[in-house]
Amino acid sequence: MRKLAAALVAIAALFQSVTAGESSPRKAENIVVVTLDGFRWQELFSGADESLMDPKDPKAGGVRDLPDLKRRYWRETALARREALLPFFWGTVAKNGQVFGNPARKAAARSTNGLKFSYPGYNEMFCGFPDPRIDSNNKKDNLNLSVFEFLNGRPGFKGRVEAVCTWDVFPFIFRSRKNGLPVHAGWEPLKADDLTERERQTNALMEMMPRYWTDNAFDVFIMAAATSAFKRRGPRVLYIALGETDEWGHGRRYDLYLDAAHKADRFLAETWRALQKDARYKDKTALLITTDHGRGSTRADWTDHGKDVPHAEFIWAAVMGPDTKALGERENIEVTQSQVAATIADLVGEDFNAASPKAARPLPLAVSNGNKSP
Ligand SMILES: [Zn+2]
Repeated sequence: MRKLAAALVAIAALFQSVTAGESSPRKAENIVVVTLDGFRWQELFSGADESLMDPKDPKAGGVRDLPDLKRRYWRETALARREALLPFFWGTVAKNGQVFGNPARKAAARSTNGLKFSYPGYNEMFCGFPDPRIDSNNKKDNLNLSVFEFLNGRPGFKGRVEAVCTWDVFPFIFRSRKNGLPVHAGWEPLKADDLTERERQTNALMEMMPRYWTDNAFDVFIMAAATSAFKRRGPRVLYIALGETDEWGHGRRYDLYLDAAHKADRFLAETWRALQKDARYKDKTALLITTDHGRGSTRADWTDHGKDVPHAEFIWAAVMGPDTKALGERENIEVTQSQVAATIADLVGEDFNAASPKAARPLPLAVSNGNKSP
């Protein structure tokens, strides 16, 4: 009887806090944010696109070994295709978290900056609003406060926020020279007084490998930098910016574009498994994955994006963590890229909108009991 009374009291308290809209403390103390530059919602939700793997039109996808690519990623249904391409995303993130951006579920996600390329997209994503002053990818310091700079100034987060990025413009997007936010970017070796054997080998490989893109390192080096950051410093907030999906897209190599997404998924699976074995991260870490822009939707323009490319504003985002309800693919809810910044803060119990009133509110219901959406 006493147990029943206690249960009733607990239920009443829960009901009261829910109805009063009080936010309870977050379980998540850490967050990992990952972007796959220019990775389309089409492949995320439906897997490999048949029109870009058409033997009658080999130029569209630029695939070198079509039978082998089909063996890896072609399946009869869209659901099977997307699971073959992104097994961790669909098997773990979507099952335990939420995915925004499927137009087929009346849940389109879009960037609102109108320019549909990287710097304007990353600014909108991390500062919370589109800024017309940002109209190029030039290495110019951002004038806006990013959610990472904000978190790095919050109690308990100071010195525990960092970014590892394939693209060498990120130090400027986060104006890290001014605020001291550690941003490891581009073809930069890992630095430490006591490099491990693995870190030394990573640096040696980077030194000897062809620098296929001068401003963008291969994803594998940034994955290594992320692993190194987790092991060495245990950051509470780590941003991992991967770039090969965009680069191979521009290069019209659909095979390597799909491989880059698949390898990013595998890296995330391994990273997530390792974090769940680490007491600093286990059951208290959130994950947010998204992209800076879409790409064209035809055989001709899937390689491209920018203000004149129709539909390249459509993006996607996914959230998983101890404070996120497992709602899976969200339906009947349209969201914008500008909502990502406040969502990142909300996921670790911080209010970005208080520091940056221009920033959009968090993605609705991405955080249970989170900062209220309008
Ligand atoms: Zn981009």
